[in-house]
Amino acid sequence: MKILLFGGTFDPPHFGHLALLKNALEALQPDLALVMPAGNPPHKQAYGTPGALRYRMCSAFLRVDPRVHRCRFELDRPGKSYTANTVEYLRWRFPGCEITLAMGGDMLLSFSTWLRSDWLLGQLTLAVQSRDDEETAQLAPAAQALRARGGKVLFLKAPPLALSSTEVRQACAEGRAVDGMVPPEALRVIRRHHLYLTAKGEPKTKKEVTAEYCKKLAKRNLSAKRYQHTLNVRKLALKLAKQYGADEEKVEIAALLHDICKERPKSELLQMLRDNDIMTQNAADKPQSVWHAAAGMVYAANELGIEDPEILDAIACHTSARPGMTLVDKVLYMADMCSEDRSYPEVEELRKLLKKDLDKALIRALQYSLQWLKEEHKQIDEDSKLALRELENQYYHTQRA
Ligand code: ATP
Repeated sequence: MKILLFGGTFDPPHFGHLALLKNALEALQPDLALVMPAGNPPHKQAYGTPGALRYRMCSAFLRVDPRVHRCRFELDRPGKSYTANTVEYLRWRFPGCEITLAMGGDMLLSFSTWLRSDWLLGQLTLAVQSRDDEETAQLAPAAQALRARGGKVLFLKAPPLALSSTEVRQACAEGRAVDGMVPPEALRVIRRHHLYLTAKGEPKTKKEVTAEYCKKLAKRNLSAKRYQHTLNVRKLALKLAKQYGADEEKVEIAALLHDICKERPKSELLQMLRDNDIMTQNAADKPQSVWHAAAGMVYAANELGIEDPEILDAIACHTSARPGMTLVDKVLYMADMCSEDRSYPEVEELRKLLKKDLDKALIRALQYSLQWLKEEHKQIDEDSKLALRELENQYYHTQRA
């Protein structure tokens, strides 16, 4: 039986790992491929993500090929995870098996330092994938040295995919999107368990969530067009905050984050809402057009540690509005409706109203959007209807008084 063994810390698994596994499967055609997350890796400073979560993230490997399985041997074994022990176990479990160990070039370069490396060289074939072009030049002499000790080393021919778990953790800590780096199975666990909020593992301090930081996040997470829209919303929101006396700091942060999740796939938004249904008050059951707003709130709360309910609520209701809107909610809603990149027929009338009367402008805006949704046969969020009814009652009541 031919076994391909692929061990790693997988904190988290990324597309570089997937590519290595895929290439090794194609080149070696094993009967079985075992993905082995390390319990306590001897060569690495562990970041500290629990083994159970790393194991769960490794489910991403299963869809590469039906021959791929995860193995808990190293996770469940106390002490450091040495490949020599794992190989002994596999020899006992699958007598007579042929084992090939898939690894990145960095592992080949350090192989001589592994526990019982001489014994291992007699037990295994090493299938090596270079991780980047710079490393490639060093690999041939290292392989030669191991061959001279009786080792079998072969190189996987696919081009290197320069990516590491360290880079993914760093990106998460800086609030950058990692969708392009990790498979969805890992992304879900990262989001759900708020992994890697800082490179070192401490929760992000609130002090870091400044407007400048949020602006950087918006730039990193959004397309150029949506980033420009975000800046326009911020500009108008700050103007309205000054005019109507809203807290400018809160308005600015809410404006910069309001569309932060807008360009994420719907499936991901849905997962975020399902994972946080109490916080979002079951937003997953609402129309899809408002999911990004509730997801933006989840992002601000969970990934940035923002606790201010005025900022969180304003982000959450910027598309639908809601009953009991605060001044910050109203300012953000109208800034989003009337930012300078908006060009629908009624926008000029709303901009004029906005100069004189925030509530009246808001009522008109809600009337227009409800009417438009109706005409287009689109699902209407109950919160929008309730918001309009409440605002009309309050407004006309005040006018009569
Ligand atoms: P970290 O950045 O935390 O050190 P890592 O990205 O090196 O992590 P590991 O889980 O330590 O990931 O790696 C498991 C195995 O996958 C190792 O053999 C490693 O060399 C290999 N590997 C990791 N990334 C790549 C990549 N981009 N291309 C090829 N092999 C890789």
